[in-house]
Amino acid sequence: MLIETHSHLNDKAFNADRKEVIERAAGLGVLKIVEIACAPGEWAQGEELAAAFPDKVRCAFGAHPEYTKTLTPELMSALDSFMAKPCALALGEVGLDYWWDMGTREEQLALLEAQLPLCAKFSKPAVFHARNGKTPLQNAYADLLEALKKWSYRPAGKFRGVLHCFSGSWADARAGLDLGLLLGVNGTFTYKKNEGLRETVRKAGLDNIVLETDCPYLPPQSARGKRNDPSFIPEIAAMVATHLGTGNSQVADKTTANAFELFGQF
Ligand SMILES: [Zn+2]
Repeated sequence: MLIETHSHLNDKAFNADRKEVIERAAGLGVLKIVEIACAPGEWAQGEELAAAFPDKVRCAFGAHPEYTKTLTPELMSALDSFMAKPCALALGEVGLDYWWDMGTREEQLALLEAQLPLCAKFSKPAVFHARNGKTPLQNAYADLLEALKKWSYRPAGKFRGVLHCFSGSWADARAGLDLGLLLGVNGTFTYKKNEGLRETVRKAGLDNIVLETDCPYLPPQSARGKRNDPSFIPEIAAMVATHLGTGNSQVADKTTANAFELFGQF
């Protein structure tokens, strides 16, 4: 069994065939999906998707850094109530994005720090987004990892969150692992130019990764330019197995165990 730990199935790209996409992935062994509802307008949709697939889909709820300028106190209290729902597995995705113009570093950190206490309040991990800017000074990973040194969530298990779509350096990965974070590995692992990422994932090892697609974006190399969806998880798992010199079943077993350790069984 495989777990898709990061989908955006409520994206309009899936309006015509959302149900079929989930069933097709299940047919390929992707039996559990974490849907990331990271826009206030997606929270209710996420809950509905989980209700439609109660044995397969759960949600992360949060405000992505693109909502830096629009998250009102009313929306914060709505987020609090979504985090209390039975379908809520995690806070997310939350974090820092210096690639696009999503607000200043201070504004983005303020949005992140306003949401982080929900993890301790609801005993749930966080799904983190970090994307560096175009200059070395715009280091989202450094700022996120520094901010998380003050994070008060202390779960019973060994993991506190995941650095989704990991794209940082080995030093960033090492710092993340030391903070109890997993690395989210997706289609970018298969891109020709990403030898550095493959080396980082090799060093981190199977004990420290989970699989994801971030669909509808970032399909694996074989489907560049097409819509991504959770049925690509087996292909990503196979690439990880090849590069780590291990078997497909070990990758499936370990990444599934890691996901359950992080999110709890569902
Ligand atoms: Zn995402």
